[in-house]
Amino acid sequence: MTDTSTRSGTVPGVGLVHAPLALLPMPFPEHYWRQACELTPIFNELVDCVSLDGKFLQDSLSRTKKVDAFTSRLLDIHSEMLEINKKEDIRLGLHRSDYMLDAETGLLLQIELNTIASSFPGLSTLVSKLHRNLLSHYGNRLGLDSRKVPGNSAVSQFAEALAKAWKEYDNSSSVVLVVVQPEEHNIGGHTVAVVYFRAGYSPNDYPSESEWRARFSIEKSNAIKCPSISYHLAGTKKIQQELAKPNVLERFLENEEDIAKLRKCFAGLWSLDNPEGVNGAMERPEIFVLKPQREGGGNNIYGEDVRKTLVKLQQAGSEELAAYILMQRIFPKTSLAYLVRKGKCYQDQVISELGIYGAYLRNKDKVVMNAQPGYLMRTKVSSSNEGGVAAGFAVLDSIYLI
Ligand code: ADP
Ligand code: MG
Ligand code: MG
Repeated sequence: MTDTSTRSGTVPGVGLVHAPLALLPMPFPEHYWRQACELTPIFNELVDCVSLDGKFLQDSLSRTKKVDAFTSRLLDIHSEMLEINKKEDIRLGLHRSDYMLDAETGLLLQIELNTIASSFPGLSTLVSKLHRNLLSHYGNRLGLDSRKVPGNSAVSQFAEALAKAWKEYDNSSSVVLVVVQPEEHNIGGHTVAVVYFRAGYSPNDYPSESEWRARFSIEKSNAIKCPSISYHLAGTKKIQQELAKPNVLERFLENEEDIAKLRKCFAGLWSLDNPEGVNGAMERPEIFVLKPQREGGGNNIYGEDVRKTLVKLQQAGSEELAAYILMQRIFPKTSLAYLVRKGKCYQDQVISELGIYGAYLRNKDKVVMNAQPGYLMRTKVSSSNEGGVAAGFAVLDSIYLI
């Protein structure tokens, strides 16, 4: 991991700053691991089905649109595509569904589903390898078996999905474009088969109209977008909350067992026009999280601030409430772990969040790939609300099946 701070190069013994990581893999019950893996192909399919229902996306986000300028711009692109009847025959999704284990209920509950710029397939693969390697050397002394760290091929399977999408596009002189910074929409005279958005999920990625124009022309083009605007919108927190309402999953999926599996991992989710959620959060703000339609960490509101913000939003008028959703706060059991940051090891009370990557590729009726390429464990000190690794809250981890 690069570190632009002056500390880079001053870490004991090394010239680079490593990504923050846990010294040892986090124990995780195998039963929940299997459950999370099983959910992956179903969520992949769900996103695809939801993406095809333009009316559902527009209707669900219509109130958010009024008060959230960023979501509104995304919806504008989406509605123009609906108007010209734009079809995406080849659809590629590289997702990551995140979960926490709620200690009180013993349930594996979904935190969110990322459908754009799902981060760390590369580093998570490396951390699993590192932990396996450490245990193969020192496992005996620790009473740990390296084979209990599940293999992780997130990075190679994400690459494979991109390559397969390129192949489906079927033009050998075409290229894969990776959008890494808002300025770098460099199409360079080649036919682009696949556009991978590593940026574009945050308002900061669109500092001027030209980035929005670029996003629009990419969407309108024949290139395979990862994600398309519909996939992007299907991964918003508002859609997560709408999908958790009674009878909504049934609109998209037929298999009742699949529906039951998804529903089991849904935490309590409320729209802010629902008095049940709002009143509950006013009374006991500490058991809720208030979430705006944003990605990238550091945006959520916790504790007493939930109540303060709700009061402020209510004063601002009911419209403003639509920019947020309310979520049941999940409280995982804490444990003691060794965290390594900037070459130094610390011991702290931690909680963890397990992300499972999903890769989905479809060409019309043919599902080319519906896979669970790997996982990302993030461990953070239990006193911190947010979970970002890049943001400095969490460390990269892997799991040790128990
Ligand atoms: P983002 O898209 O910004 O990553 P998340 O929904 O993942 O948004 O929230 C960021 C972090 O906040 C999560 O990684 C997790 O640590 C914490 N968090 C989010 N929702 C909850 C919740 N319901 N209960 C407990 N912690 C949560
Ligand atoms: Mg996210
Ligand atoms: Mg997240």
